[in-house]
Amino acid sequence: MAAREDLYIILDVGRTASESDIKKAFRKLARRFHPDINPGDRSAEERFKRISEAYEVLSDPLKRQFYDENGFYTDGVLAAQHRPEWGFSFEGFDFSRLGSAGFGEAFGQLFVRQPSRREPEPGQDLEYQISLSFNDSIRGLSTGISVLCRTPCAKCNGNGRLPGSRDAACQRCGGVGKGSITKGLLQFAVNCSECGGSGKHIAKCQDCGGEGRVSQNELLDVQIPPGVSTGSRIRFQGKGDAGRLGGPPGDLYVLTNVVPHPFFKRAGDNIHCTVPITIAEAVLGAKIEVPTIDGRAVLRIPPGTQSGQTFRLREKGAPSLIDPRARGDQYVEVQVVIPRVGDERSKEILRELAKLNPGDPRQEIWK
Ligand SMILES: [Zn+2]
Ligand SMILES: [Zn+2]
Repeated sequence: MAAREDLYIILDVGRTASESDIKKAFRKLARRFHPDINPGDRSAEERFKRISEAYEVLSDPLKRQFYDENGFYTDGVLAAQHRPEWGFSFEGFDFSRLGSAGFGEAFGQLFVRQPSRREPEPGQDLEYQISLSFNDSIRGLSTGISVLCRTPCAKCNGNGRLPGSRDAACQRCGGVGKGSITKGLLQFAVNCSECGGSGKHIAKCQDCGGEGRVSQNELLDVQIPPGVSTGSRIRFQGKGDAGRLGGPPGDLYVLTNVVPHPFFKRAGDNIHCTVPITIAEAVLGAKIEVPTIDGRAVLRIPPGTQSGQTFRLREKGAPSLIDPRARGDQYVEVQVVIPRVGDERSKEILRELAKLNPGDPRQEIWK
């Protein structure tokens, strides 16, 4: 393997060089090795290429930072490194630029998944959907759910090692742990794929394959608090996936779907409903009973109530998820039911009523 050539050395600048230092150094070298100045000189051409590539990385703060931290940089790694599943991923990585079909294989084997092979990683958050009745959403619900998740491996206590085994030197790297590979103009510092850079051979637990966790269905008791509605997201801390190699577990989020109620409708913490009343109740006023989530409540209908008018019952709504002591209100819309009168006596009374109240309700329309 060729010795790795440091980009700072190629540009002949120190590690702490400022942006303008780097620019100056590049200009100076470029003037010396530019192919136009050295026609036909292959080594100058090669040198100029390296200088350009080094400048491309070191002149970009993000690329430079990556290079400083990892000892190499190549296009695609910055976009790839923020994928959550791996510390590192090469999806979307343009291997063709590196000019070797074998590269993906070699590099993949040597580096992908390797940076944190023996390091604990936090577990993922999980989501679980649950459907519940309107009444349960108001009162809260204690229920058991079965969640497919990763749990710490019981065989190895989550450390991924074959119980009772001893560490030996890694056979792949002979205990060195690190190496470098060269492809074309690029050199990469890599950790050994076998030992992840530790140089040790660790016998893996057979139950979990060295992950320290296994997938299985977990039966969990969950307490859905009073007041959830469709789309509420309840967090259960530490009930998500177990971490890798003893890393902290993720959280479980339970998403609630509330089956619609035939009478009550939720709007935030308020509850809406519609209640029919008679003409006499609307005209004369009345005290009527209406359903609430606590049972029956008395609603006073004032004389002269119009159809469609809405009344509020304070604190008869749903409990607040944010503040358990707070509650929403209930809004009752009344609808006046018009009777179908067939008998002469009723008609007579209504005609008489009309005579006594000759006002025109459409008066406003013509103004
Ligand atoms: Zn295990
Ligand atoms: Zn090794």
